[in-house]
Amino acid sequence: MSRLLVIGCGGVAQVAIQKCCQNSKVFTEMCLASRTVSKCDALKEKIEKNGTDVKITTATVNADDVNDVIKLIKEYQPDAVLNVALPYQDLTIMDACLECKVDYIDTANYEPEDTDEPTWRAAYEKRCKEKGFTAYFDYSYQWAYMDKFKEAGITGLLGTGFDPGVTSVFTAYAKKHYFDEIHTVDILDCNGGDHGYAFATNFNPEINLREVSANGSYWEDGHWVETKPMEIKRVYDFPEVGQKDMYLLHHEEIEALGRNFPEIKRIRFFMTFGQSYLDHMRCLEDVGMLSTSPINFEGKEIVPIQFLKALLPDPASLGPRTVGKTNIGCIFTGVKDGKERTIYIYNVCDHQECYKELGSQAISYTTGVPAMIGTALVLSGQWKKPGVYTTDEFDPDPYMEMLGEYGLPWVVDEKPVLVE
Ligand code: NDP
Repeated sequence: MSRLLVIGCGGVAQVAIQKCCQNSKVFTEMCLASRTVSKCDALKEKIEKNGTDVKITTATVNADDVNDVIKLIKEYQPDAVLNVALPYQDLTIMDACLECKVDYIDTANYEPEDTDEPTWRAAYEKRCKEKGFTAYFDYSYQWAYMDKFKEAGITGLLGTGFDPGVTSVFTAYAKKHYFDEIHTVDILDCNGGDHGYAFATNFNPEINLREVSANGSYWEDGHWVETKPMEIKRVYDFPEVGQKDMYLLHHEEIEALGRNFPEIKRIRFFMTFGQSYLDHMRCLEDVGMLSTSPINFEGKEIVPIQFLKALLPDPASLGPRTVGKTNIGCIFTGVKDGKERTIYIYNVCDHQECYKELGSQAISYTTGVPAMIGTALVLSGQWKKPGVYTTDEFDPDPYMEMLGEYGLPWVVDEKPVLVE
């Protein structure tokens, strides 16, 4: 029995919300709130038409305004807030949860919308020098809430999507059941799907393009090694998808795993990209379309990457056109009982199967299902722990069980091909 407030109603939210409705033992009442309430109303209508035991209401909220979120939480009185808006809103929503003493869950770590803001910029430049990676996002802003969340007796579950989220749970699961010590982790994110457009992103274009066009980096022997964007390329033959080019990226779970598993000597993250995607991205970058700094255009201030987002297909609309499969997982090496061991834990997800079930493509699906699972585990008390934590810091077993139950079954391969 619980009341959940969900903030955001985009591609990921629509899957998470529909999956919550499949789990009405835990989720009994939900308020769907977003900037554009018509999207929440349309989803409520769709869910109610298909039949549900969950009592759904909708609301408008501007999650950039902490007082607006506090007002809504006070009115609705939820047991937890699931943030599936954008990373820009993480801190305002966390502040509101703190003020109202309500549990908080999200799928992506904080980054600011305006990367030219002087106070943030000064802290960012200091961090680049001290830590050695230049991504706009890092966990320091959200980990800083640890003591405040502990004092308030509330849980903050950070990054319960697929990557981060499931990949971190796979790591905790590998450690619990397969290794005494893990030595290396390669996280491989392969999207073998085809949507038929020359260029489109599978989740929010602004967040996606910021991440992919940035420098790469990996964790080795307790420190970051940074690379130029797309500098490190490998080819891998993915089970059920086939051979793909993949490139090393910086990714947020590396930071948490590096801190929480100090025994791991190297952690890398690779994502597959087709040549058309890379050519378009490079061209857009060269002409300044990926810039996050506002420019003045005919008397109006616009941010180039936000203008580009308005031109690109909405990721939530890709469902009917996308065919093929995703394969996301982790290859671990390490030792068990004094012997060297290697395992690969992965999930394969079919875009069209996701579309048939919920009307979404597999990227939204593979993120929305774990968002529901993490929220359910906090609400049911299994993952309730005052403070702020990533998904690798809890017992992985109930999460792994629910992945299978809610559409993301996983495979353990004990003889995988390693990435060189
Ligand atoms: P979308 O752009 O499709 O949806 C974002 C939603 O948030 C929209 O409904 C938008 O409203 C709403 N929103 C934006 N700003 C505000 C605001 N100020 N107040 C209230 N609502 C707001 O994004 P996605 O669904 O693709 O992504 C959602 C989240 O999931 C992102 O944080 C993304 O980084 C994360 N993600 C995580 C992954 C993982 O594996 N961990 C993978 C993919 C995504 P409007 O409709 O008005 O625009």
